[in-house]
Amino acid sequence: MPMTGVAGWPVAHSRSPALHRAAFRELGVEGWDSQLLPIPPEVFAETVTALPGSGFRGINVTIPHKAAALGIADSVSEVARRAGAANTLTFERGAIDADNTDVAAIESAARELIGESAGSATALVLGAGGSARAALVALEAAGFGAIEVWNRTHSRAEEVVSDLGGAAVQEVGGFDLLINTTSVGLDGHGSTGLADLPISVEQLRDCAGVVDLVYGSEPTPVEAASTEAGAAFIGGLEILVRQGALSIGRWLGEVPGLDPLREAVAAPR
Ligand code: NAP
Repeated sequence: MPMTGVAGWPVAHSRSPALHRAAFRELGVEGWDSQLLPIPPEVFAETVTALPGSGFRGINVTIPHKAAALGIADSVSEVARRAGAANTLTFERGAIDADNTDVAAIESAARELIGESAGSATALVLGAGGSARAALVALEAAGFGAIEVWNRTHSRAEEVVSDLGGAAVQEVGGFDLLINTTSVGLDGHGSTGLADLPISVEQLRDCAGVVDLVYGSEPTPVEAASTEAGAAFIGGLEILVRQGALSIGRWLGEVPGLDPLREAVAAPR
């Protein structure tokens, strides 16, 4: 049976198998299935390189394997190389190709929220981890005129901008687009509202839109603040759907419509 899946550690929370199955139904592809692949970091390479022998055609890769996924690939897309991380591995003719569809998913959200005015707009990225790097590559592709990065640990923000451009900031001023890539709001982290982030509801009132990569069982603090401010908002589940649809496109040659995927990830488990 042709298989896809999602590799992570832990990965039990992932909605990607449900998303992949919805995509197979949407595309009328029969006989394919998708599964969770809980893989500890120390056996990531040997486990993943064995997957094609068990019928796997491709997998999504999530925390903490996105950088390691680049290391086992025979070919790496330009965006994955720039982001320093891959979320999509495609197994074809005995080779592994690595790509990063988070970048295009974030880029589409940024373009949707900012319209044609990216060139004169300021984007603020919160966080300096792997997904902040994907966000910076996406904002560059979307043509933003100014990109600022704030991170709890400022030295990491400085590292990211020295690799990818933008300015590391300790004080946050005005911005047109906000992208939260910190894990603030992730289930299990406890909610402290916006206390851990350098933004206020008032600032969100003045911006064109907000993207939050995090999703959980409750609205995240950034989502709650965006709703209170009346700001246009694109959340982590929508980013998950967009990146997953593009990954399916890599494996099957066709990108599914998004609505059935949205329903699949929103359904109670
Ligand atoms: P990561 O590399 O571990 O980075 C985590 C970031 O969060 C760091 O910048 C860290 O700051 C910051 N952080 C953690 N706790 C914080 C707190 N209490 N206050 C302020 N900052 C805090 O993680 P990642 O891979 O970039 O992923 C980040 C989030 O995005 C995760 O929740 C992940 O699930 C989500 N994500 C979602 C999608 C999607 O499809 N929706 C895709 C990718 C990622 P320090 O440097 O100071 O530690």
